Amino acid sequence: KAEDVSKVYQVKQNKNTVLKNVSFSIKKGEFISVMGPSGSGKSTLLYNVSGMDRMSGGSVVFNDKKIESLSEKELAAMRLGEMGFIFQQIHLLKNLSIIDNIIVPAYQKNTESRKDINRKAEELMERAGIASLADHDITQASGGQLQRAAVCRALINNPDIIFGDEPTGALNSSSAAEIMDLLSEINRDGTTVMLVTHDVKVASRSSRVLFMKDGMIMGEHINNGDNGREERLSGWLTQQGF
Ligand code: ADP
Ligand code: MG
Repeated sequence: KAEDVSKVYQVKQNKNTVLKNVSFSIKKGEFISVMGPSGSGKSTLLYNVSGMDRMSGGSVVFNDKKIESLSEKELAAMRLGEMGFIFQQIHLLKNLSIIDNIIVPAYQKNTESRKDINRKAEELMERAGIASLADHDITQASGGQLQRAAVCRALINNPDIIFGDEPTGALNSSSAAEIMDLLSEINRDGTTVMLVTHDVKVASRSSRVLFMKDGMIMGEHINNGDNGREERLSGWLTQQGF
């Protein structure tokens, strides 16, 4: 639950208020998307509610913790153990194989045996359709396959929520659809998902869409029904002036 979240960047003498008292809540198990024009504050919102960055004001409660009250160490532990992150840029480590990239966060968390971690990584890769790439170098896989590996890495510590900042932004439409299938499946199994996207097709897969403009949430749209979701969302976005 986010209440009155604000973020001010100070660049030399200029104060730029990028988030203006943003409030919203996400229910456990929900799948929400955030849309809005470039520069409207979508990434900033994601970074501030997930404890990657510090808000200038306001409050965020996640898993009964007020994140603004946590120390850097507590925040890091929360992000590692309770949250998963995927980005447009995939950020895999170049000198590790694909499976080794996936297990890094679990070794770091260090609460399960390495054998169990390896088995879990193999299961996740199986599920993501990249099991055969386990020992490959990251230069030996396509962008879509690498993003699927990044989803596995985000899931290795069984997070309660996955945050994605334009995770399909650099992918072709069929790879994007595969990532969305994977995220939808993970969401059906109970993981909460919050995505920033400018792609209507992607956002139409979520249960709810928030529309941001000038650092504020201007409205929300519920994606209902199986047919025509994309068209209805498109129509709503047009009404919002997007
Ligand atoms: P979006 O993801 O919707 O495109 P961002 O959240 O990246 O928007 O950026 C919102 C605004 O905040 C932009 O005007 C951007 O220039 C500004 N901004 C983002 N990060 C910083 C930063 N680290 N320092 C100063 N200004 C920033
Ligand atoms: Mg952004």
